[in-house]
Amino acid sequence: MLKRLNPGRARTTEVEISGLEVPLVLRRSARARRFSLQVSEARRSAVLTVPARSSLADAQHFLSRHLDWLKERLDGLCDPVPFSDGAVIPLRGLAHRLNFVGPIRRRGVVWVEDSDEARIAPVWPHGLDDAVDALPLLNVAGEGQHAPRRLLDWLKRQAHDDLRLRVDIHAKRLGLVPKRISVRDQSTRWGSCSSSGALSFSWRLILAPPFVLDYLAAHEVAHLEEMNHGAKFWALVERTMPRQAEARDWLHAHGSHLHAFGADTASAPMRDD
Ligand SMILES: [Zn+2]
Repeated sequence: MLKRLNPGRARTTEVEISGLEVPLVLRRSARARRFSLQVSEARRSAVLTVPARSSLADAQHFLSRHLDWLKERLDGLCDPVPFSDGAVIPLRGLAHRLNFVGPIRRRGVVWVEDSDEARIAPVWPHGLDDAVDALPLLNVAGEGQHAPRRLLDWLKRQAHDDLRLRVDIHAKRLGLVPKRISVRDQSTRWGSCSSSGALSFSWRLILAPPFVLDYLAAHEVAHLEEMNHGAKFWALVERTMPRQAEARDWLHAHGSHLHAFGADTASAPMRDD
């Protein structure tokens, strides 16, 4: 099953295993005391952590005992939704259908088109059953091959604008002053606050319902005062964002699904000063 357990210096190795649809990442760790198996939803891979001195046979044995569990977990992953013509993606929590319109003369290269019949549907919790044709359109102009990138850049700008607005509101309420805001493609955290007061966020928050983005804005602003997750910190968040518990529940239930959208579209980081 496992062809080899790389004995060299490489700490991680990717292994293809028959019957598994995603690669297994083998991680050697000096600190690991035992084997552990995880599924990374953001990276769509399985990760097997092994103690530095373990043998190939041990790893193989461990994996074979947990293969059914692993396959079950992998089956439960959301299918990736690349940015392609006709794909349905959420924008501010509501389903939109992507429409790559080709090279046309128009001022905005990306725009939302609602019609009278447009059906506004939340993508969560159950996805879309029918009537995909009736969804509002998210139009992307220009050559098809550049459309995913153009859409991603537009989504980042939308995320940036919404976050700027909400950060300023929370900062004003709490009497704090944020520095730069940047929006990035980060898979491990929704937001962060540096010791110098710079806030950064994942662009995927623009896919989530607005109160979720709002909560992240409040969370990072509160870190300007409390660089920890203690009781004082949560009191600050609660003061400026009373729906914080609801937003955290939402992220817990649906947050990892946000990584399914546009996963393989690359773009430059976006920031303001
Ligand atoms: Zn935090």
